[in-house]
Amino acid sequence: MLLSGKTAIISGAASPRGIGLATARRFASEGARVAILDIDAGAAAGAAATLGKEHLGLRCDVADKSSCERAVASAVEAFGGIDILINNAGITQPVKLLDISAADWDRIQDVNLKGVLFLSQAVIPHMRARKSGSIACMSSVSAQRGGGIFGGPHYSAAKAGVLGLAKAMAREFGPDNIRVNCVTPGLIGTDITAGKLTDEMRAKILEGIPLNRLGTAEDVAGIYTFLASDLSAYVTGAVIDVNGGMLIH
Ligand code: NAD
Repeated sequence: MLLSGKTAIISGAASPRGIGLATARRFASEGARVAILDIDAGAAAGAAATLGKEHLGLRCDVADKSSCERAVASAVEAFGGIDILINNAGITQPVKLLDISAADWDRIQDVNLKGVLFLSQAVIPHMRARKSGSIACMSSVSAQRGGGIFGGPHYSAAKAGVLGLAKAMAREFGPDNIRVNCVTPGLIGTDITAGKLTDEMRAKILEGIPLNRLGTAEDVAGIYTFLASDLSAYVTGAVIDVNGGMLIH
């Protein structure tokens, strides 16, 4: 097993069809104990219960610094330490540039970008004390190509910000043996896009994907598992595309 004896925090991991929960399942099957953090407390507890007794479900609003600190303190107390952080929580909004309000901008930056800062700030002191840790952050193809399919320009900006923040964290904390990497998925079939994709849109999108299918949550969970595990022990500051070839660059 790739994560035997390890402990992990995964944010935004309560959504039943989401990338976070697929990752939590994969981590658990690889031997890790997992803390599922989500803004929805009941869903977090329910999701953790499906994994087994040794896993935790905790409420955490990643956009709220004290909420991150409380959740991390609970996970550290329960597990004795944190080896892996997956900054996965995110929200999107399909809107054109001229229609972005100040409140839309703030909401999208707060969850997708500031949330990565706050949760990392809460976890890094624990990893630093142990001189070991792996952090993986969720960006998006939207950051690389100036728009995905559903996210507006404020989402692209937030996910591009994640790339810069993660690379800076990789540089600052490499000497503490903390690795920080990013994943940039293409279009993955989860609730974030559910119901918004017509058959016509789907056919058009598939024309641009060499592997000729949409991604699955498990496709991304596999990359998070690689980045969390010692298989990637010499990888930091990297960005791994999981997009079926939608963007080859
Ligand atoms: P999802 O909606 O199923 O999952 C997102 C989760 O984040 C939900 O469980 C939600 O409750 C949680 N969340 C929202 N706001 C939060 C907050 N403030 N604090 C804590 N948790 C919060 O969608 P998903 O597709 O699994 O998305 C996971 C991540 O992947 C997101 O960051 C998303 O932007 C990113 N992403 C998704 C795709 C895709 O095509 N699905 C592509 C690229 C990137």
